[in-house]
Order: sequence, then structure tokens, then C-alpha cells
Amino acid sequence: MSDFPRVREPQVQGRVYFGGAWYEKDERLTSVNPATEAPIGSVPLCNRQDVAAAVQAARDAQPAWGDLSLHKRFAYLDVLRSLIIQEGDALASLITQENGKPLVESHSLDVGGALDFLTGLLSGGRDYLKDRRVRATNPVLWRKRLMVRRVPLGVVGIISPWNLPLAIPLGQVAAALAAGNTVVLKPSELTPLMGAKIATLFHEAGFPPGVFNLVTGDKDTGAFLVESPIDGLLFTGSTAVGQRIQVQLGPRLVATQMELGGKDAFLVLPDADYERTVNGALWCGLFGTGQACSSSERFFVPRSWMPRFAEAVAERARGLKVGDGMDETVQVGPLISEAQRAKVEKQVSDAVERGAKLLCGGNRPDRKGFFYEPTVLMDVPRDCALMREETFGPIIPIVAYDELDQAIAWCNDTPFGLSATVWTSNPEKGEAVARKLQAGSVWVNDSSYTHSQAQCPWGGVKASGRGRTHWLGSLHELTVPQLIGVERGGARGELWWYPYGGDSVELFARFRRFSGEGLGGRFLHALPLLRAFLRVRGSR
Ligand code: NAD
Repeated sequence: MSDFPRVREPQVQGRVYFGGAWYEKDERLTSVNPATEAPIGSVPLCNRQDVAAAVQAARDAQPAWGDLSLHKRFAYLDVLRSLIIQEGDALASLITQENGKPLVESHSLDVGGALDFLTGLLSGGRDYLKDRRVRATNPVLWRKRLMVRRVPLGVVGIISPWNLPLAIPLGQVAAALAAGNTVVLKPSELTPLMGAKIATLFHEAGFPPGVFNLVTGDKDTGAFLVESPIDGLLFTGSTAVGQRIQVQLGPRLVATQMELGGKDAFLVLPDADYERTVNGALWCGLFGTGQACSSSERFFVPRSWMPRFAEAVAERARGLKVGDGMDETVQVGPLISEAQRAKVEKQVSDAVERGAKLLCGGNRPDRKGFFYEPTVLMDVPRDCALMREETFGPIIPIVAYDELDQAIAWCNDTPFGLSATVWTSNPEKGEAVARKLQAGSVWVNDSSYTHSQAQCPWGGVKASGRGRTHWLGSLHELTVPQLIGVERGGARGELWWYPYGGDSVELFARFRRFSGEGLGGRFLHALPLLRAFLRVRGSR
């Protein structure tokens, strides 16, 4: 059991939650506001025993939760949805203080995303989870009553990143619970207070003890969760960590969904609407300070558009207000950490050293916080780290192309395949190009808006992951189909049971031939088949 002393009152900050109770601990992890570098709270650092206790609580609660009717499980989720609507302002403020993104993005992408997904789940989820009667095609099975039911995986671990600290974990937890699983969530060590806040939402919504459980901590806590006896894992994070976990869980045959990194292309066709494309490039490259998994990170533009396009994007980037996201007029917040800023800085300086032309940015503003100026570069060598590795920063690197086929090949020339965007005035042409791009989602003249729309799959190909989350189809990945076949009774035996003999062989051979015939042939074969059937039937 865990060594946590139990505390009576639930509090938003700094408590762990499992088995329906709140726990406290001296060993702590501090959460820092990236816009001010000031500590804004702390949470317990969970060790192996704490994680084991949380997984056990989830294990104990699962049978009863899985047995609840869909109607009852969805009723709890409906209460959760109402709480998100009520507490949206507080949630958005906490996200901005802990993650740094502008308040409007916390409202629209995170709180709005969580709400959108719950709304879609509540309206369409039952259809994916209800028992289905099926019919076998072989007529000799006519007496069998066949049912496919969706059985929960059991205990599902969810390990989350910091860039959408509410929408990602909440959507995944909600889907896992809707499917009848119980959950242990390990939020990012960079946004752990949001994890604790999510626990209060589940507590206040009245979910039965042990259905939702929270462990906070760093990568070691995540590793303890991976090593524990879970039945499924939803991991969202970097490709390197996801690949390692996938190797670890492979031999245990644990069901996994991996939402990993990206290097998404922004492909402009010569006929694109100039104004929309300039504005789109600015937003797609810079929203979330470029730290969205679907941020555009490689921009391919017709040579005839250059340098006018790059200079226009740079001019608008210079005009964006960078600062603390709590200031509602700010458009670009800080990076999440000093380590992230150092990585971005290194990629930019390497690209410039290798001949890229810096049009704006490329500096740390002279202020507290992990800020980095919105940066636009052109003529970036395609083989430098800025064009090949995930950057996760406010950077727009632009490359000119001559032929569309060449640009499409460049878009696909990456180990990643999360998403891509195509810009054109011709929707049919845009769709045709989209079909040639190797990416889990491709948007024409926009980006990213389908995340958390429950009807739309989210996920990547190649090194960007496997499985799909934040959509109703994930309810099938979070359950296994169980077939229940019921013989209605009445006969002493079946045609394929003992005794075997010449009549049985003839029956099945005749049936095979009958199946291969058209209407006329079947007419000819029907009588001998019926005779063989009656002979075998009579022997049972
Ligand atoms: P990360 O891989 O460093 O960490 C993600 C989570 O995994 C954290 O909670 C961390 O504590 C945990 N973790 C780290 N090492 C672990 C280990 N060995 N075992 C178990 N858990 C471990 O990623 P990050 O920096 O938090 O997030 C950014 C990354 O996430 C980017 O690559 C981004 O593209 C990706 N991402 C992908 C999607 C998507 O939908 N595909 C969405 C958001 C973010």
C-alpha cells in the first residue's frame, strides 16, 4: 500500500487522488509559470508504491464500473461536462499560468476541446459500445443467436504531455471510462497542477471511488505506471519515449495507443488565396508558441511567391505581441521551459549558420520568462535539424519549390506523419493533393480544428504514432469484442458433430458446389443437397 497519510479536504493543488480519497506527501514536484519563472504550486512526487496503490484502486473498482449500464456511465460524464462549462474560466486561467499559452487558446483549444469531445462522446458514444446482434451467412447456423459485445480492456494508464494539459488527458480519460475501463492518469511534470484540477472535476462529478485515479510525478512515475499491471496505455508525448514504451509493452501484449511527435508540412499551391495563406502561415506556425503537435513546422511555397510571401509573414510576425498569456492582448506566450527554449535556439542558429536567411526574430526577448521571438526564415537547407527534427517553437522556416510533385515528395520526406495542410483556391485540387500526403490528418486552407471533434480521428502515421484518440472510433480500441453465441436448442446434435462418414462429406461438398452456382445452377443442385442434408440430419 501507499505510504501517504490521508487528508480530509480535497484541494486543487498538490494532492494525489486514488480510490476516491486525497493523499498528501512530503516529496514534491514544483510547477513553474513559464511566463514569470515563478513557482505556482507543487504536487506529490509519486513513487513505485504510490503508483501500485493507484493501479490497485483502479483494479478493484473496474468490475462494478464495467458492469454499470451505458446509461449510468454516460450520466456521470454528463455531470463532468456541466462542471467544465461552470468552471471554464478557472480552468483556462490555470492552463495559461502553468503552460503559458494565451488565455484565448486556453479557452478555445483546451477548455473548448474538452467540452467538444465530451459533447460528441455523449451524443454518439453509445452506438459504438452497445451490444450488436449479428447473423451468420451460413444457413446451417440459422438457429444460433449471435451477439457481439464490447468488453472493457480493464485498467487503462494514461500518460499525458503539457501542451494541451486539459483537452488531451480529459478526452482520453472520458473515452476510456465511457468504455467501462477504470483509469490511472499521469499528467506531465510541467503541468501537474492541471492534473490535480482534473482529479477534482472527477471527484466533484461523483464518479465512484477508484474509477478515476491520479498519480503525479516525473518520467520515473510514468515509468512505474508503464511497468505496473495495466491492461491498456494511452501515451501522448515524444516519439523517442513512445517508441521505448511500445517496446516495453510489446511482450506483455498490452493494448496501446501512441500519439507522438510531428514535423508537419504547410504546402502552398500557386493558386492559393494570398491573404488567407499569409494569415494561415502565421497562425499555423505560431499558435501555442509553435508547441502544438500539429503546428506547421516546414513551409513549402512556389518559387514565384518568394520572397514576397516570406517577407509578408515576417512583417506580421514582428507585429505580434509576445508576453504573459494572462494579458488578453498577448498573441504569443513563452515556451514551456528553458530546455525547450535552448533546443529551439540551437536549431535556429544551426540553420542560419548553414545559410538560412533570418527575416525576423531569432532572439530571446530581454525579460523574465522562457520567451523566444516569433522567427521567420527563408532558403532553409532541407537537411538541417530545423527541417528534419521536431522543433516545437515559434519558428516559420520557408523553402521555395519549382514543381508540385517535388514539393509533395518533400512533404513526405520525413520520418513523421501526424498532419499537414494544403493551401489552394481549388478545393478539388486541394483534396487530390491531400490524398498524396502521408499524414493522419490533412486540412485544406486551415489546420488542427478537428482535434477533439469526436467524429474525426486523431493520430499519426509513421513515427507519429499508432491508434487514434479523441474520436468515437477509439471506443473500439478501448474495448475488445466478445462474441456470445447461443444455440436456441431443439436438435440432438449438429451437422458437423460426430458421427463422421460419407454422408457428411457429401453434404459439405455439395453445399460448397451449391454456393458457387448462380440461380439456375442452384436450382439443379438444390434437391441432391436437400437429400444429403436430411440423411445427415436423420443420423444426429
Ligand atoms: P515527453 O515524451 O517528454 O513526455 C510525455 C509524458 O511522458 C510526460 O508525462 C512524461 O512524464 C512521461 N514520460 C517521460 N518518459 C517516460 C518514460 N520513460 N516512461 C513513462 N512515461 C514517461 O513529451 P512532452 O515533452 O511532454 O510532450 C511533447 C511531445 O508530445 C511532442 O513530441 C509532441 O509532438 C507530442 N504530442 C503529440 C500529440 C499527438 O496527438 N500526436 C499531442 C500532443 C503532444
